[in-house]
Amino acid sequence: MEEYLRERYASAAASLSKKLVRRNFQPIICQNLEEAKERALEKIDQNQSVGFGGSITIEQSGIIEELYQRGQKMIDREKTTSPEERHQVMKQALTADCFLTSINGITEDGELVNIDSVGNRVAALTYGPDKVFAFVSMRKVYGDLNTTVEMVRRNTAPLNAHRLSLEKTPCIKKGTCGDCLQAECICNTIAITRRSMAKDRIVILLIIEEVGL
Ligand code: SF4
Repeated sequence: MEEYLRERYASAAASLSKKLVRRNFQPIICQNLEEAKERALEKIDQNQSVGFGGSITIEQSGIIEELYQRGQKMIDREKTTSPEERHQVMKQALTADCFLTSINGITEDGELVNIDSVGNRVAALTYGPDKVFAFVSMRKVYGDLNTTVEMVRRNTAPLNAHRLSLEKTPCIKKGTCGDCLQAECICNTIAITRRSMAKDRIVILLIIEEVGL
């Protein structure tokens, strides 16, 4: 990563952190994904249960493997063998002690913007787990709320549609979002989290490095 970009993100992260604190979030500035993983691991009690939502950033961090290695109680839908079991495990994850997720976009003023298919990720972010660890790269700080929602809808969601190999949605056929209502649509819930009711419940790992979609 170029030094000027790192400096720019570091300066923006320092300003954003103050705004996140005002919204009852707990920001932690991390130089890279490895540091974010380590900081989250330090904060997760080894006796607690951990659930997680689908996220490239979480996957790339390697935190799930490390939690398994240290014997953490994991609520893991990827270990299920049927859709029914997967659904039950996803419901259980909503009452885990800790939940790991990423954030699709964040405004310069500190609002969190997420777009979700099933809705489990935004549900857990909103209520349920006692602690949420949300990983987000400074690259995903897009500007004001309208711009951030637009970027998440026009950029992140179509990228996710390609990653998931959807077949019939406009974002796959034409490469741009067509605001679809199709069965395959992954943009069923757009959630804006403007403040946390419980102070410091949501730990935001602000990553200087460019990671995730
Ligand atoms: S709303 Fe439909 S077309 Fe737009 S990004 Fe989501 S899945 Fe693709």
